[in-house]
Amino acid sequence: MSDKAKYIFVTGGVVSALGKGIASASIGLLLQRRGLKVRNCKLDPYLNVDPGTMNPFQHGEVFVLDDGSETDLDLGHYERFLDQSLTKDNNVTTGQVYHTIITRERRGDYLGATVQVIPHVTEEIKNRIKKLERNPDPVDVIIAEIGGTVGDIESLPFLEAIRQMGQEEGPENTMFIHVTLVPHIQTAGEFKTKPTQHSVRALREIGIQPNMLLCRCSRPISDALRQKISLFCSVPADAVINAEDVSTIYEVPLRFHAQQTDDLICRRFGWQLPAPELSEWTPMVEKINSPRNHIKIGICGKYVNLKDAYKSIIEAFIHAGVFSDARVSLIWVSSEDLKHSGADKLLHDIDGLLIPGGFGERGVEGKIEAIRYVRENNIPFLGICLGMQCAVIEFARNVCKLADAHSFEFYRDLKHPVIHLMADQEGVTELGGTMRLGAYPCVLTEGSKSHEAYGQTEISERHRHRYELNNAYRDMLLENGLLLSGVSPDKRLVEIVEIPSHSWFVAAQFHPELKSRPTRPHPLFRDFVKAAVQYQKEAKGDARKASAAVDLTDAPG
Ligand code: GLN
Repeated sequence: MSDKAKYIFVTGGVVSALGKGIASASIGLLLQRRGLKVRNCKLDPYLNVDPGTMNPFQHGEVFVLDDGSETDLDLGHYERFLDQSLTKDNNVTTGQVYHTIITRERRGDYLGATVQVIPHVTEEIKNRIKKLERNPDPVDVIIAEIGGTVGDIESLPFLEAIRQMGQEEGPENTMFIHVTLVPHIQTAGEFKTKPTQHSVRALREIGIQPNMLLCRCSRPISDALRQKISLFCSVPADAVINAEDVSTIYEVPLRFHAQQTDDLICRRFGWQLPAPELSEWTPMVEKINSPRNHIKIGICGKYVNLKDAYKSIIEAFIHAGVFSDARVSLIWVSSEDLKHSGADKLLHDIDGLLIPGGFGERGVEGKIEAIRYVRENNIPFLGICLGMQCAVIEFARNVCKLADAHSFEFYRDLKHPVIHLMADQEGVTELGGTMRLGAYPCVLTEGSKSHEAYGQTEISERHRHRYELNNAYRDMLLENGLLLSGVSPDKRLVEIVEIPSHSWFVAAQFHPELKSRPTRPHPLFRDFVKAAVQYQKEAKGDARKASAAVDLTDAPG
């Protein structure tokens, strides 16, 4: 390819949550599968430096990268679709941009100039996008997604920066893709194009003419309607693409490809490339859409009403389901309801239980009770981060008989703090970016379920926590049958615990969900789902009781 990268800018209009991240990742995948080196990035217009200190209700999941940066959940989509590991440079926020500029200003670097949004903020944004061209290695194309919606006050500097890039780099090197909504009005029985027209007009007012429209709609819109949108928005009709709701987000690239979306991009940039190589992707999507098995996994956490808080976990189950040819329905159980209604009432129908990560004491007793239930009933269990800490507390209380075992996170004056503050966290007062974050190595015990899953003894996994298993209780836990199957190379930190006598009971201090990929399911999720399918066949037979719980695994992303 040429030694200069091309830029594709993805903006969104009308409403948020249209799936710009999935659209950007899908285009990235198609170009990558045609042989290009692709780098996706997300530009977030909020003032936080990163989403690490934001409430999941505000922002959804915090996606942690190998380098320890806490980033937007769209980076999870990029990593999963393109099977790449990204770095902190792939997520730019207004907070970071202003932090850099204000630090520079205080140093006196601006030599007396008035520091302004244009040119200083826009220059910094452009530099951060351009830096990705060669960092860490050269790429052919950068796909930059702008968070928020056109018309937001806070997005303006980003839109101005990409407008300038369009001008400076020229049309042969840049492309603007706008993701918009074409709603179907039930009472009128028709699709409406006006919101799209308004959104494109707003974009043009700030000097950006989109080259392609991805029209989010409940079902494909007609050619006549695409013509109409084309006419009003000055976008060629073949570049008005249907982006209809699909049963799985992994189908989006296939739908785009069927409409020659990637051909249009290649033509614009003068690339003559073979068709995308999708020989693994297409059967994977077919498997997601028509699985032979169907299992139910209970998931017990604080944010059960906010599925975005558990995005990577939901995706990791889809990947693991492909491996076991299983549809994994997630039964969302509020840990607080569980405490009141009892574990048996809410969990009797599940084939496995997952306790995800979390912060704060609310709901912890319910999680501990759920773990007791699955441990005693030999139901497969996977614990993640806080889920592992709860598993240790449960084991200490009910097996080791330390009735008041708990975590130092919740109570400072404890008789048995089986989970305590990590040594290097003592004295930490700032909350942003100060947890144990990012990839750390871990050594597995041969013959353990974890070792069997990974097929190797040295692994690397991503962390985000302040507390850990208290080594003072290691011997007692071991003597009572808990295997400490994963430890840090210096053996000072326990990273995985499991119960060898149980059908499948594994809990990890790290977050396996962050490294699961659609065509490479994470080993722990893969074996957990396999164990749940097995449990269903052996322990429960095939008679499945209908559950009133909502199945959200297949809601469009
Ligand atoms: N709150 C726990 C800690 O800080 C667990 C964190 C998590 O689950 N990500 O250690």
